[in-house]
Formats: sequence, C-alpha cells, structure tokens
Amino acid sequence: MQSIYDLNYDQMQEFAQSCGWKSFRGHQIFQWLYRQRAASFDEMSNLSKETRELLKENFIIDPLKLVRKQVAGDGTTKFLFQTEDGALLESVLMHFDYGKSICVSSQVGCNMGCAFCASGLTKKKRNLTSGEMVAQFMNVQRELDKTGERLSHIVVMGTGEPFDNYDNVMNFLETLNHDRGMGIGARHITISTCGIVPKIREFADAHTQYNLAISLHAPNNELRDQLMPVNHAYPLEELMDALKEYSEKNNRRLTFEYILLKGVNDSKAHAKQLARLLRGYNAYVNLIPYNSVDENAFRSVSREEAMVFYDLLMKEGIRCTIRKEHGTDIDAACGQLRIKELKKRGETE
Ligand code: SAH
Repeated sequence: MQSIYDLNYDQMQEFAQSCGWKSFRGHQIFQWLYRQRAASFDEMSNLSKETRELLKENFIIDPLKLVRKQVAGDGTTKFLFQTEDGALLESVLMHFDYGKSICVSSQVGCNMGCAFCASGLTKKKRNLTSGEMVAQFMNVQRELDKTGERLSHIVVMGTGEPFDNYDNVMNFLETLNHDRGMGIGARHITISTCGIVPKIREFADAHTQYNLAISLHAPNNELRDQLMPVNHAYPLEELMDALKEYSEKNNRRLTFEYILLKGVNDSKAHAKQLARLLRGYNAYVNLIPYNSVDENAFRSVSREEAMVFYDLLMKEGIRCTIRKEHGTDIDAACGQLRIKELKKRGETE
C-alpha cells in the first residue's frame, strides 16, 4: 500500500479536497506526521474515527522496518532498513559541531558502476519512492526524539544516484524542507551527484537553494573514464559547462568531492590539473579519505599524504577541506552494511 509520506504538502491538500474534507484537514494530517511524528493514524486524536479509517484504507504511514543498527565509537549510527517488498537500504546518522545530519539513500543498489564504490557492487533494483526517503529521515528523527534532539541537515549521499531518481528526490526534499513539514532549511540540504548533466541543468532551473556536490574524483577524462563510467556519457567538458550554468543561475558555491586514492589520483600533477579545471568556479574541494572496500584493491592515502595534496591545491588558490572520517570502526563505506546482510541472506547477485 502507498505510504502517506509520498505526499508533499500540496498533494496532501489535494487528497483532503478529493475526500470532500475541509481545507485545514490536510494541514492537520501534515502536522500529525511531521510535528508530532505520529507513527499510526490512531494517534491523530483530533481527527474523527471516520477520517482515520479512510486514511487507513488508503495509506500506511511508515514503509520501512528497521533490520539492524550499528553504533560507532564517535556516535555515528548506521541504520539498515527493509522496504515493504523486502529490499534493503542504509541511512547514516552523523554528529557534527554544527548539528546532526542524516545521509539518505536514493535507490536500492546503483547502476553508476564507480570502480571504488561498494554501492555499485549490486545493480540498481529500483528507485526509492519519495515516501521511503522521507521515512529514512522520520525513523532516525523518532530515535532522536527520545532524547529531545533534532536532525538539522540532510545529505543525499547514500546508496544510489539521486539525479537518476530526480522527481522522487525533489519531492522528498520538498516535504522535509516545507515549513509545515520538518522545516529543514534548504541550505542545510545537500545533493551529491556523479554528474548526470541534463539533470544538473534541470536542477539549475529549479532554483531550490539546496547545495550541490559533485563527485569528481579525477581531474582528466582519461582517469575519470576508468573510475566513473558516467564520464563516458558526460565527459568533463560537458560537466563543467553545466556547472558553470548552474553557478550563474543560482549564485551558489559548488562542492567538489575528491576521494584521494593512493597511487591513482593523488600526484602533484593531479593536484595541478585539478586546480586548472576548477579555476574561475565558485567552488571548494572536499578531499575524502577513502573507506576501503573488501571487494576492490583501492587504498586511501595517509593523513600526511592528504595534507600534501591539500597544500598544493591551496597554493594554487583552490579552497579545500579534508573530510573528517566518521564511524570508521563500523561498516562505514556506502552500502557495506547492506551488502553484508545480502550475503548473509544469500541474495548477492
Ligand atoms: N551517486 C551520488 C551519491 C552517492 S555516493 C554521487 O556519486 O555523488 C556519495 C559519495 O561517496 C560520492 O562522492 C562517492 O564517490 C563517495 N564514495 C563512494 N564510495 C566511497 C568510499 N568507499 N570511500 C569514500 N567515499 C566513497
């Protein structure tokens, strides 16, 4: 059955109207879901029994079931969820100085096939629905409610390519961003893409104020072709063109993610090439220590080696940061907990 989390605010109003309800009814239901975080329709005590029954006939609330939780020493928590049709997906709760952030998955598996990524080890089974993405947030928020804490940030950086599931991702963010929904500020929301150019252009025209992060990982086409098959479809020139357009239309700073892979993309020449590629863009580079994945041979650079690369970029006038690692004592790399569970169930393809 459909999850009521699929409906954004306007769609909820439309549903209420289609039932012949007074206009504030849709508003009330939205409040129950996102202010009170109701997990059942019976909790919605100011709705008539009839109304609640009608909702129950049409919707479920939460389409996810928690399968497992892993807590790291630094508090980073991985949640493994199961969907109604038995698919597995992961979300991660991270604690920062500036607040609490959830990393949301956008698809079951992923077809982008990046050489270094654990998520791509299983092909995409399907897109997640908007409601399944909202539910990742709501489940983690309900956990935090127990201690009076609040999620303040969302990153769409879990398993899947958000721009390969564009409409559902936009719908889910709209609900959580809506001031009558969870009210998460647009500037506290980040979408990360491997570089699906037509969707970057569509996103540029949507003027959402969400942050955009680009998984770059290589400063030239030859290397990027090897690491990220998406580069064959949308090579660097086209990607950088679309990003220029995005910047001009939105006046927002871009983030470029760059995993430092030992002996692969971490040389002095790579740093220079990267600086040349990004010159003139309102951007900064997030250098990412690699989380090793058993199934491949890539290794991370050391902290010292990362610092050398960082210094080179800074000297070239490119702003950058080195991402602090979170939850390294659990299966932290994207998709690893899911893959472990699939193996246990004998379901790996
Ligand atoms: N498909 C989207 C979002 C999911 S991946 C994208 O490509 O951006 C989120 C980020 O994690 C990407 O930058 C991805 O390249 C990076 N990533 C994937 N596997 C990783 C690993 N093992 N260690 C560190 N970062 C990884």
